[in-house]
Amino acid sequence: MIENLIIFNAHVVTPAGFSARCGKEMGRLSILDFATVEVTRGIITYVGASRGEERDGYYNRYWHFNARGRCLLPGFVDSHTHFVFDGDRAGEFNRRLRGENYLSIMQSGGGIAATVRATRKNSYYHLRARAESFLKQMSLMGVTTVEGKSGYGLDRDTELRQLKVMQSLQNEEQRRVDIVPTFLGAHAIPEEYAGRADAYIDFLIDDMLPYIAGHRLAEFCDVFCEEGVFSVEQSRRLLTAARKHGLGLKLHADEIVSLGGAELAAELHATSADHLLHVSDAGIRQMRDAGVVATLLPLTAFILKEPYARGRQMIDAGLAVALATDLNPGSAFSGSIPLTFALACLYMGMTVEEAITALTLNGAAALNRADKLGSIEVGKQGDFVLLNTDDYRQLTYYVGMNCVTTVIKRGVIHPGL
Ligand SMILES: [Zn+2]
Repeated sequence: MIENLIIFNAHVVTPAGFSARCGKEMGRLSILDFATVEVTRGIITYVGASRGEERDGYYNRYWHFNARGRCLLPGFVDSHTHFVFDGDRAGEFNRRLRGENYLSIMQSGGGIAATVRATRKNSYYHLRARAESFLKQMSLMGVTTVEGKSGYGLDRDTELRQLKVMQSLQNEEQRRVDIVPTFLGAHAIPEEYAGRADAYIDFLIDDMLPYIAGHRLAEFCDVFCEEGVFSVEQSRRLLTAARKHGLGLKLHADEIVSLGGAELAAELHATSADHLLHVSDAGIRQMRDAGVVATLLPLTAFILKEPYARGRQMIDAGLAVALATDLNPGSAFSGSIPLTFALACLYMGMTVEEAITALTLNGAAALNRADKLGSIEVGKQGDFVLLNTDDYRQLTYYVGMNCVTTVIKRGVIHPGL
C-alpha cells in the first residue's frame, strides 16, 4: 500500500490548529486555492502553493492526484456512535409513528432491552459483519474516524465481544475508517440488576474496568447519566475509577432532563459531554471553563422530535462544539453526515463554517486527537474528503445529499460514489 500522495489543484478548506476551536474561532476556516498537499507515509508533509509536482525525481515515489479545483477538506470525525449491535427495531419505530409512547414500548419489552437481547444472542462474526457494513456507508459520506461504544451487552461476555469487534476492525490494514472504542457498560441497568444500579456500577468498576484497561479494549469510558438510569453520584464513581485505569471520560449528559451531567463533566474535566438538550446555563459556563467539548447530536433530536440542543448559544458562550451522528438502533438509526450538517445549520443556528469545524477538528478534540486529526496541516494524518464542488457551502445547501466523491485515508485514495 503506497501512502505517499500529492494532491494538486485542490481548493483546501480547513480549520487550523492542534486543539479544539472554541466560540467564534469555530467559524474561521483557512482557504487555499489551487493548493498542493503532500502526504508522506500517511502524514501531511506539505500544504501550500504548487511546487511543480509534475517534475520527476523525488516525486516519482508519490501518487499524483488532480483535485481539479474542487474542495478538499479534512476527513470527517464522527465522535459519537453505537455502530456495533444486533437486531432491528423497525417495528418499534412504526409503533412510535402511530403515536405509541416510548414508555409503553419499553414495558412491552422494546427499547434498549430489545437490542441487548439480540446482541447477547448473536455471534462475534455476525456482529462484526454488521458493524463492517456500517463502516462502509460511513466512509462513502466522508467519515475517516469514528468513535464506537459498547453498551448493548450489559454483561461481561457481550460487552467484551462488542469491544473486540471494534479492535479487530481497527486492525484491518486496508481500513478506510479508524475506530476509537468506548466502554459504555453503563448504558442502562440490565434486567439482572433491576433496582440495584449501585451493585451494577460496582460490577463495572471491579470486574470490567481492570480487564478492559489491561487489554486496551477501550480508550474512553462513558455513562448514561440520566434520571431513572445512572445518577450523578453513580456516574462520578464509575468515571473516577475509569480515570484511575487511564481511560478518557465521556458522558451522555442532560439529554432528557437537566440532571447536572454537564456540571459533572466539568468537575471531572471529561473530554466531552454529549447530547446536552437540557443543559443549564451554569453547565455551559462550567464546561467552557473546564475545556470540555460539547458534542451535539441533531439527528437524535430530529428523529425523537425533541427540541434541538442550543448550539448557537453554546458557541456564543465560547464553548467548543462538536457534531456527531449518534448512529444507534433506537433513537437515531442514521449515520447521515449530510443530514447532520443540514440540521445543525437549519435548526441549531450554526454556520456552515462552524459545522465543518465541529465535524473535523472539534470532533477530533472530542476523541483526544486534535493533535493528529481534523485539519489539513503539516504533521496531521493524511485523511481527506474531496467534494464534487468548489463551493463548500454545498455541504448544507444540498440538504441530506452526499457531495463527497472521494475519501483519502492516510494518503490512500478510496473512490466514493
Ligand atoms: Zn449515545
